Amino acid sequence: MSEPGGTDWIDVSVTVRHGMPHWPDNPPIVMQRAMDIGLGHACNLSHIAMGVHSGTHVDAPVHFIHHGPGVDQMPLAATMGPARVIEIAHPREITADELRGHSLRAGERVLFRTSNSPRCWQIDTFVEDFVYICEQAAEYLAETRVRTVGVDYLSVGGYHADGAKIHRTLLAAGIWIIEGLDLSAVRAGSYDLICLPVKLHGSDGAPARAILRPIT
Ligand SMILES: [Zn+2]
Repeated sequence: MSEPGGTDWIDVSVTVRHGMPHWPDNPPIVMQRAMDIGLGHACNLSHIAMGVHSGTHVDAPVHFIHHGPGVDQMPLAATMGPARVIEIAHPREITADELRGHSLRAGERVLFRTSNSPRCWQIDTFVEDFVYICEQAAEYLAETRVRTVGVDYLSVGGYHADGAKIHRTLLAAGIWIIEGLDLSAVRAGSYDLICLPVKLHGSDGAPARAILRPIT
């Protein structure tokens, strides 16, 4: 690996900011200065409050599996190492039929680049009709036993679909989930992935920074 600060690394995380869009029943993202040099304090110091499934984040098994492992127990290899970005052609869903055409392998880290990436992050409110993983595709991913699945909006499951079922299918198969990626700056292909969630004790999820570097 070259230096992570080098120009060949591409940031595929979204910027966390006050008032950013979030899943409708999740807490709002609050980010404010608790101390401010402009107000006479010795330093600038920010206070944040948000759901752990805000912006780019990792889902841990305990999100949908009671007593499952928390995000602090994630093996680092789940989100660090070679990964494949797959361009999804379907405008509404990630389908099993389309995934079969990409001959996924056990242990792979796969990130799905859908029309969400160039569209959803440009909109200041929650987007309900984002592209999501359908039930048959989740079952196919579980059977294939990929290691990690990444999606480019706030959930692997759809807003108007059974999102809980999609999460359970993937998490019960031991698949780690990255949600909230912005893959607009990358094309389909092979990359090195680094995505490290904040080490929150026993948490069902945690915000993460995710970067990709093309493998040439
Ligand atoms: Zn999540």
